[in-house]
Amino acid sequence: MFSLFTKWRHARIISRSETSNDQWLAVFSHLPMLDRLKSVEKGKLRRLAILFLDEKEFTGVKGLQLNGEMRMLIAVQACLPILNLGIEWYRKWSSIIVYPDSFIPNNTYTDEAGVVHQDQSVLGGEAWLRGPVILSWEGVASSPPLDGNNLVIHEFVHKLDMLNGVANGFPPLHKGMDKAAWSHDFQQAFNDLQHKVNAGESTVIDKYAATEPAEFFAVLSEVFFERPDQVYSIYPAVFQHFVEFYRQNPLTE
Ligand SMILES: [Zn+2]
Repeated sequence: MFSLFTKWRHARIISRSETSNDQWLAVFSHLPMLDRLKSVEKGKLRRLAILFLDEKEFTGVKGLQLNGEMRMLIAVQACLPILNLGIEWYRKWSSIIVYPDSFIPNNTYTDEAGVVHQDQSVLGGEAWLRGPVILSWEGVASSPPLDGNNLVIHEFVHKLDMLNGVANGFPPLHKGMDKAAWSHDFQQAFNDLQHKVNAGESTVIDKYAATEPAEFFAVLSEVFFERPDQVYSIYPAVFQHFVEFYRQNPLTE
């Protein structure tokens, strides 16, 4: 865990934050998925977001001017999955690049350090192994409604997945979690969705999740935080693994 020095440094960054309570309240009020959080959890999320904003470098491109509120909106959503994990889960990368709208992914660069995937179905985003997270502001701005789609969560949980190598739907699990059960249950759910999509059935879960296990993990995580009832009812075993992995249960909190 953190050294005393790191704890002291984090406390200093938080205490020196110049963002007002009203500014945070305004950002939180835009995000209905945070309504379930208790006030102590909201405070924790806000402190994580302050550390996130301190550690990460935001760049607006193609003429996009990123203001403080836009950065906060990204930071708060990015920090929800790590609420009970900690800021160190976003270590070893620092850059967030934001385009005004959907961008054309550079799909010619495919080695291990390159583009991991392209997310057309979520209005444009990418997460690079050991590299930046790239978002379209259009996609960020369309994420708040509780419809199970959330670009920010999607891209940042790819970063969690990549902590132990390439994105493959298998992030580093906590001590005591059953790796074999995770693999089995995710594979079974993935196969089920792929089967339904191939059969032309309409699915509650975005069919983009059926393209590969990494996308299944990211899309199901979006649904877990926005519409946990859907994951619980369709793939209950996956739901339980998420509760253990994210160390939060959006259905009961
Ligand atoms: Zn993706």
